[in-house]
Amino acid sequence: MSIVVKNVTKLYGEQKALDNVSFTVNPGEIVGFLGPNGAGKSTMMKIITGFIPSNQGETHVCNLNVERVPLQTKKKIGYLAEQNPLYYDMYMREYLSFIAGIFKLKNTAQRIDQLIEMVGLTVEQNKKIGQLSKGYKQRVGLAQALIHDPEVLILDEPTTGLDPNQLEEIRGLIKEIGAQKTVMLSTHIMQEVEAICDRVIIINKGKIVANEKAENLSSLLGSKNVIQIEFEKAIDEKELQKLTGVKSVEHKGKNTYFVHSGEKMDIRNDLFQFAIAQGTTVLTLKKEELKLEDIFKQLTT
Ligand code: ADP
Ligand code: MG
Repeated sequence: MSIVVKNVTKLYGEQKALDNVSFTVNPGEIVGFLGPNGAGKSTMMKIITGFIPSNQGETHVCNLNVERVPLQTKKKIGYLAEQNPLYYDMYMREYLSFIAGIFKLKNTAQRIDQLIEMVGLTVEQNKKIGQLSKGYKQRVGLAQALIHDPEVLILDEPTTGLDPNQLEEIRGLIKEIGAQKTVMLSTHIMQEVEAICDRVIIINKGKIVANEKAENLSSLLGSKNVIQIEFEKAIDEKELQKLTGVKSVEHKGKNTYFVHSGEKMDIRNDLFQFAIAQGTTVLTLKKEELKLEDIFKQLTT
């Protein structure tokens, strides 16, 4: 197991930021750590990376106890902290070689060249960090997290504040890197989870409320069973309501309706037959999917 968190509780004074949290992350997985602001994501990540201690429970990374052997575990972990703390007055290479020094790496020039190429910093490599755009600063952050070739990457909101192009680039990069490493990344961007994560762990008020494969989340809460249908001509709404399997009908505008049906019932065929019986045709028919946003809302409010 790459990460094992067992019954971890963290108190800030009186406040419980984490309440008996347990989960595991398998080698090679990319796990999305989701939760509203203040849920405890950064706190959990700081505990996994050994930056702060927990009050109760145990955390293991690559079978090493984070609090008992902190230096050994830190060698296994690459960490991109939430605010991506960088030294803006340092040149990018200078900064990366400083970080390499902290890990006591040898042949650092070669490793830094390799990383600069890997994270796509080549064109900007002679600049000071402060001169880089936010997207490029994130690349420097990723490079420093990767410098010692760690097995596990902990990325705290790596894409927050990026423009759509940068976002896509950084996501692509994380996915690429994730092919060889275990990655846990926190985010509140739902598309991100769908785009890159194998599994989602949702945390709310310091408690884990879901831990599922991304594709299983919607079945966990039942599907939405709503069909949006547009007829060519006006239909008799009362007749539509009487259709087998139809629970309720919402008039959405002109000849468009939301039709709610029972669990696990597919009434699309019946709707087509209904249209024919009404002497009209179906212009559009769309099954409304339960989006990750809906699931997130349901679990965290
Ligand atoms: P998230 O990263 O999910 O937004 P955090 O882990 O940063 O959440 O915070 C969880 C809770 O703990 C919040 O209510 C936050 O205000 C509180 N908290 C975080 N860090 C500290 C701290 N150093 N001292 C006191 N309270 C803190
Ligand atoms: Mg945070």
